[in-house]
Amino acid sequence: MEPFSYIRATAASQATQAAMDHDVRLIAGGTTLLDLMKLDVERPGTLVDINRIGLDGIEKMPNGTLRIGALVRNSALAHHPVVQSDYSVLSQALLAGASAQLRNMATTGGNLLQRTRCMYFRNTAMACNKRAPGSGCSAIEGDNRSLAILGTSKDCIATNPSDMNVALTALEAVITVEGSKGKRDISIADFYLLPGNTPHIETVLARGDLITYVTLPPPRPKAQHVYLKLRDRASYEFALSSAAIVAEVLDGKFSFIRVALGGVGTRPWRSHEAESALLHRSAEPESFRRASVDALREARPQSENAFKIELTKRCIAHALTLATRNA
Ligand code: SF4
Repeated sequence: MEPFSYIRATAASQATQAAMDHDVRLIAGGTTLLDLMKLDVERPGTLVDINRIGLDGIEKMPNGTLRIGALVRNSALAHHPVVQSDYSVLSQALLAGASAQLRNMATTGGNLLQRTRCMYFRNTAMACNKRAPGSGCSAIEGDNRSLAILGTSKDCIATNPSDMNVALTALEAVITVEGSKGKRDISIADFYLLPGNTPHIETVLARGDLITYVTLPPPRPKAQHVYLKLRDRASYEFALSSAAIVAEVLDGKFSFIRVALGGVGTRPWRSHEAESALLHRSAEPESFRRASVDALREARPQSENAFKIELTKRCIAHALTLATRNA
């Protein structure tokens, strides 16, 4: 690890000002950044610690939304009573991620910016367009079993690794940012960029931007929430495929449905195709099958991960079965 300076910020404005310098990284839980520094993937000259700037509360707002501070720890968010009762898909997704120790450190804002687990990104001896733009992509002809089948490009096939982000996509969260352009709200649907030919640019954040809050829309009291994660081992493992479902069924038919996928997309993947196939249709296995086929129609597998197509179809169908079992 390279030597670096350390500063503790006491206000959000101090953090955003410091982060205008390209040599500065903001650190909160540090569960991604410190790993990448040890691997020499990240070599900041200065770390600005943002753990003492507030932003660590969860607040029910007068308009019925839930506002989550960017520094709320993943474990606190997963176990918050309002999240467990009204946004259960988020609690389920958080508890399916990482380990208890990591969840105690990792923050909401940090999880939004979690970097890919592509092994070549984390190995500075290998070509990687995301880490070193223009150097090539070692994964396309290499080990790509865990990588993406949706939203890929010829320059990058890395998967967004987060479980939380999949649930937030199904919940249609809004991310509040403060920075050089002032304060702005960004829908999670607009927050992540596809890799295209610039895979090193992962979000719409600009230099100096600080994520301050994540806001969830008012709860839907009749909705059923399911997060189903399929992986190589039962805990402390990233998803090969996952599905977040928020569903309401009225008279046997879907009256509201949100479907988001994890482990298969270059960003948390909202499946409008699956939603269209389900809305106003009967909550029954044939609808689930059609929706899962439509969700994967655009999938482009690599040499080692074609199995994810069938796995994800089954993941979606089973998650829908769980979400509608009491309908
Ligand atoms: Fe790098 Fe993306 Fe290729 Fe992985 S898939 S080696 S992150 S460019």
